[in-house]
Amino acid sequence: TPILGIETSCDETAAAVVGRDRDGVPVTLANVVLSQVAEHAAFGGVVPEIAARAHVEALDGIVRAAMDDAGLGFGDLAAVAATTGPGLVGGLIVGAMTGKAIAAGRGLPFVAVNHLEGHALTPRLTDRLDYPYLLLLVSGGHTQILLVRGLGAYERWGTTIDDALGEAFDKTAKLLQLPQPGGPNVERIAATGDAKRFALPRPLRGEARLDFSFSGLKTALRQAAEAAAPLSDGDVADLCASFQAAAADSLADRTRRALERFRAEFPGLADPVLAVAGGVAANRAIRTALEAEAAKAGVRLVAPPAALCTDNAAMIAYAGLERFEAGHVDGLEAPVRSRWPLDAGAVPLVGFGR
Ligand code: ATP
Ligand code: MG
Ligand code: FE
Repeated sequence: TPILGIETSCDETAAAVVGRDRDGVPVTLANVVLSQVAEHAAFGGVVPEIAARAHVEALDGIVRAAMDDAGLGFGDLAAVAATTGPGLVGGLIVGAMTGKAIAAGRGLPFVAVNHLEGHALTPRLTDRLDYPYLLLLVSGGHTQILLVRGLGAYERWGTTIDDALGEAFDKTAKLLQLPQPGGPNVERIAATGDAKRFALPRPLRGEARLDFSFSGLKTALRQAAEAAAPLSDGDVADLCASFQAAAADSLADRTRRALERFRAEFPGLADPVLAVAGGVAANRAIRTALEAEAAKAGVRLVAPPAALCTDNAAMIAYAGLERFEAGHVDGLEAPVRSRWPLDAGAVPLVGFGR
């Protein structure tokens, strides 16, 4: 029962096919991602109109490539899934319309997928992992700690009160005149820098609530950069390393608290898991810091491969697969939504404690 997934919520045009083998283990049959970085490079950020137009031009070819990679025709599919939010509306419309057209043309069910649910379920695509689990979702637009009780049943334990961490990485790159997306470039340069050179703040460190804050860190970084100007390559590397260390430290501190609560609320779990997802979860320094916290708490860390942390359509096809199997399909009138929080208005379907 393979499912085609389509992702166009931001600046990646992506299509993938995911099914299950005889034992029920999810299998990614195709996963094609076209990044629009080049199209947006001159503007220092994603331009919505340019993104939507690029999706229109590329999507048919990307879908065809995914079907070819999978060695399947549309008639072999069980359903078609597409991201219908949250994200840039122009791109969402392109992906949703394409998915609906294929579904309508072939008489297949259409599944509307929340992009964040795609990120949230990715650990179940890449690893054996039962509900419930604790999830750290760190991406370009979100920084949240969620309890994933089951499919469609997400409880938000903490969130950023200002910037998302991916956004902070991107702004750091911009400030230091490194190319976008900032995360991978800051990580690459940080590898040659001294993380102890600049003393940057760890906002909300030690606080009982499970929220995050990164705007103070961003401001402190800018002030440090201004004080050290003109910046040599070595200064830039030290700034990147110091920023990345502060980010990893902040995440680790908040995660430690969340793990305490998770262990207290679910003392009897046979295989307690901390999962990470979203583009920032591709960062090695951050994964190492989280691995240490998970180990201290006696919890298994599940971190998908970097290519499945950043935006892709395999996660959309997989979320679509879980929904389809749970009997949840959508009509062709399913709307696109620029805002669509995971924990509000999501219909609990199956899973632990419901
Ligand atoms: P959202 O999923 O919240 O809607 P998005 O889809 O734009 O936002 P993702 O594609 O999940 O976000 O992640 C992109 C973000 O991840 C960017 O901000 C990028 O800089 C960051 N990122 C990617 N790789 C790394 C890395 N190696 N280290 C740190 N950050 C990274
Ligand atoms: Mg992107
Ligand atoms: Fe994303």
